[in-house]
Amino acid sequence: MNFKAHLTGGVLVGFGCVAGATALGWLQPEQMNLDRPWGGPEGVKGLLLFTATLAMSLFPDLDQASKPQRWYYRAVFVLLVALFVGKQFPLFAAVTFFSLLPLTHKHRGWTHSWVAPLVVFGFWWGFLALHQQISVTPDWGALGGKLRADLPYLGAAWLGHSTHLLLDRFKAG
Ligand SMILES: [Zn+2]
Repeated sequence: MNFKAHLTGGVLVGFGCVAGATALGWLQPEQMNLDRPWGGPEGVKGLLLFTATLAMSLFPDLDQASKPQRWYYRAVFVLLVALFVGKQFPLFAAVTFFSLLPLTHKHRGWTHSWVAPLVVFGFWWGFLALHQQISVTPDWGALGGKLRADLPYLGAAWLGHSTHLLLDRFKAG
């Protein structure tokens, strides 16, 4: 399938995830505070859930030379410059490692396998969680609790990724 089909699929499933999370009570839109940036913590939660779904529905095809791939690497380049100038070196290193991952295998290789959402979630969750803990004493119990609390993002990423695989079944791309 082409980029547009994956974009449409990702946006639709992203809204579906937000609606589903609201129905299940994980997301409480009435707690959103529109006076704060991004609607406060609850708004950020919803936005992250939507982004996780959409990003994972587009991620698999970054493994082939294409227009979206070029834009992705341009964006990564600009981000790396910003992180370098801002002296955010651990994040700089993480973005560098991560951005290479889709190129480490053939087209429709690991990015199109069921482990991809786990790899991406594991990479970023592990990095961000441990990075926040490094300056203080690591609290493994608290990390376990945080992991459980963040699992809905993995679920959303998995749904977005499955949408990609499903659309790919109709037409190669
Ligand atoms: Zn694909």
